[in-house]
Amino acid sequence: LEGKDIGKELEEELTKWAAKRGNELTRLREMERYRKEFLGNVSHELKTPIFNIQGYILTLLDGGLEDESINRVYLERAEKSINRMISIVKDLEEISKLESGELTLNPEKFNVVALVQEIADSLEMKALNRGIKIVIARSKDTPIYVSADKKSISQVIVNLLVNSINYGKDGGTTIVSFSDMFDSILVEVSDDGVGIDQKDLNRIFERFFRADKSRSRESGGTGLGLAIVKHILEAHRQTINVRSKLGEGSSFAFTLDKA
Ligand code: ADP
Repeated sequence: LEGKDIGKELEEELTKWAAKRGNELTRLREMERYRKEFLGNVSHELKTPIFNIQGYILTLLDGGLEDESINRVYLERAEKSINRMISIVKDLEEISKLESGELTLNPEKFNVVALVQEIADSLEMKALNRGIKIVIARSKDTPIYVSADKKSISQVIVNLLVNSINYGKDGGTTIVSFSDMFDSILVEVSDDGVGIDQKDLNRIFERFFRADKSRSRESGGTGLGLAIVKHILEAHRQTINVRSKLGEGSSFAFTLDKA
């Protein structure tokens, strides 16, 4: 009887061990799939501007250099493609820092209304080009103090505001509002632009996922902006939520700790 029990215990142990190994294996396979997919995405994203630059250079070498009317155009296009590659590489660096946990947060107390105002001012020309107005629903003279890593929260606000311009409608309005939520502050960036299809809503925070592919590329989007936003807020143990209706607009709301 005793022998039987030991056999049973052993069997249970073995089952547990196998389950654990099985889980580890699934996790490793998952990581490997993720890594492959990531590399595939990166090379795909970089391929387009590289081939474009090659095309422009070949055209210039092929007689385009002598033709004043076209050499400038081709050089400008090549520069645009290079800028695109720089944006992609910069965003990739940021993502890899965030994912490896290399980013050290230095929380400090700051007025988030003033920060939003500063960023909105810096994006004014970009917005005006499309006739978009950025409205901040609170004066910076009525401060809201939060505690967070200011540099990375600036990045969150920049990315959300840039998206509201890129996916906004001509002559539209972006509104940034703040709500008091007891321990935290809810910052909401809303636009009246193209909106996002319900089926895409839970994928837009994935790296390289684009609901609106042509608009994203046209505006120089890397498909990494919202992935970066999500990572930064996760590192702060904060959340972000999106509400959107196709053709009507989108609203992104995230929380910050009150200082
Ligand atoms: P991208 O560089 O393509 O803008 P993001 O990660 O910032 O990358 O956004 C991912 C996708 O989510 C975009 O390609 C776009 O389809 C969608 N999206 C993001 N913000 C908005 C918005 N304010 N309105 C509509 N769609 C948006």
